[in-house]
Amino acid sequence: MISADRPERSIMKTVLEVIGNHLCIGCGLCQAVCPTNAIVLNSSSTGLSRPQLDPSACIQCGECYHVCPGRQLETRPVKMRGVTEHDLYLGTVEGCFTVDVNERHKTQYTPSSGFVSALLAYLLDTHVVDGALVVKPRDEQPTRGRSLIAKSHTEVLQCAGSLYYPVSIEEGVSYILGHEGRYAIVGLPCQLRGIENLRQMRPKIADRFAVTIGLFCGFMPGYVALDYLLHRLRVTADQGLRRISFLAQRGSEQGLLVETAEGELFMPRSQYASLISAMFSEERCLVCNNMTNELADFSCGDARRLAVGQSLVLARRAWCLDVLSEGEGVGYWRSRAISPQQVHYAQQAMLSYKKDTIRARVAIMQHLRRCRTLELRRSALSCGRTSQWLGALLYILNASFTRTRWGRYLVFRISPGLIRTYNQFVTALLIGGPSHGEKEMFGESHALSHDDGRDKLRQR
Ligand SMILES: Cc1cc2nc3c(=O)[nH]c(=O)nc-3n(C[C@H](O)[C@H](O)[C@H](O)COP(=O)(O)OP(=O)(O)OC[C@H]3O[C@@H](n4cnc5c(N)ncnc54)[C@H](O)[C@@H]3O)c2cc1C
Repeated sequence: MISADRPERSIMKTVLEVIGNHLCIGCGLCQAVCPTNAIVLNSSSTGLSRPQLDPSACIQCGECYHVCPGRQLETRPVKMRGVTEHDLYLGTVEGCFTVDVNERHKTQYTPSSGFVSALLAYLLDTHVVDGALVVKPRDEQPTRGRSLIAKSHTEVLQCAGSLYYPVSIEEGVSYILGHEGRYAIVGLPCQLRGIENLRQMRPKIADRFAVTIGLFCGFMPGYVALDYLLHRLRVTADQGLRRISFLAQRGSEQGLLVETAEGELFMPRSQYASLISAMFSEERCLVCNNMTNELADFSCGDARRLAVGQSLVLARRAWCLDVLSEGEGVGYWRSRAISPQQVHYAQQAMLSYKKDTIRARVAIMQHLRRCRTLELRRSALSCGRTSQWLGALLYILNASFTRTRWGRYLVFRISPGLIRTYNQFVTALLIGGPSHGEKEMFGESHALSHDDGRDKLRQR
């Protein structure tokens, strides 16, 4: 079964290698591609879905290993063919925009402006795609998510919101593998890395993954953080959980909204962010450096620091500019061109964490005998300051501690005030202020001066 033109397959690695090296992020792509259905995803003790391989059914084809995004690290910003702009923090971009969206694409769960949902609606309405892979909380268990293929504006809007835990996209990808058509895929950087692997493995059906829409991902709190926040709100499973939204709108405030059979509970974003920011993380996310979803066609985040309630959109290919322009022409959204430096300014903290501390995080994790087989070129990784190494060490230890049973028991009982102070200290070490060279990149001068944006949309 070893193919001569793909000699790497002769190693016959399976997803077990990924799990053994603590690299699994529970995306479920291994299950979707397995030709003998030898893999099923089961919930682990921390809530993350982990693949289980039935050795008697495995034919060692290596597909599960090769599709896996967990085994790889982008060691330098991804450069795509034929694009003009290349940025050390953002990867390749054809244009950067703040976008505000027509009200009919927003719900109370919309985290930014609702651009992702509006873009999906536009692509479906204009028949560019036949369906969209999106995720939403499970009806029967709202602390877990599921993926599905949305085929209408209504279905897309039902999936609005950000789930701050990793969701398996197996269900949606299996559907696409079994059905002809063209689909839009919404995903985190790891999920879209896996989709790119899948496109390369199955070139004949690569066109089905027609448009990729990537979410920025600065930090993945994960399932333990969710349990912790529910514990702080004193919510228990028997109160009949209905829906949990991390960035729901309540008046002028955005925050965690927990809907139960007995009523609603709300915690403002600033309050819960300071409780979980340097304390919790899924393990694989500790060695991720892809903040702006560098492989996506469109990358979408929040423009909060530049324009409240608007989205930040990076168009990474020339045709994305046409889509933006056409959608704007028929009233789906309004966009404004900004410069890459303004994107740096808007996302400074998370970009600095993801890009500047990656070398420290990888070195520490490997010292702790984690992620040993991560495929990387160490020399290409940014080194960071000494304080960032200390911050990275503390963050990794905190996240490892809170994933153990005893760690959870203790942290859930420590006073929230103490946790907040400690989190602030670790976050300050991790991110700190910009160094002299970085000031140019992240400086205040980029705050609101939209004038220097290259107005590519309007030029076209
Ligand atoms: C874990 C996580 C970390 C993030 N970190 C940052 C950050 O540091 N900075 C920043 O600016 N933005 C971040 N974002 C993105 C931000 O929260 C919004 O999702 C983004 O701005 C799009 O907003 P919107 O109003 O257009 O979304 P909507 O129109 O509501 O669409 C959101 C889409 O995202 C999909 N989705 C939600 N959660 C997940 C998930 N876990 N996995 C896959 N798909 C999902 C939904 O299916 C939906 O289609 C993060 C998102 C997540 C899930």
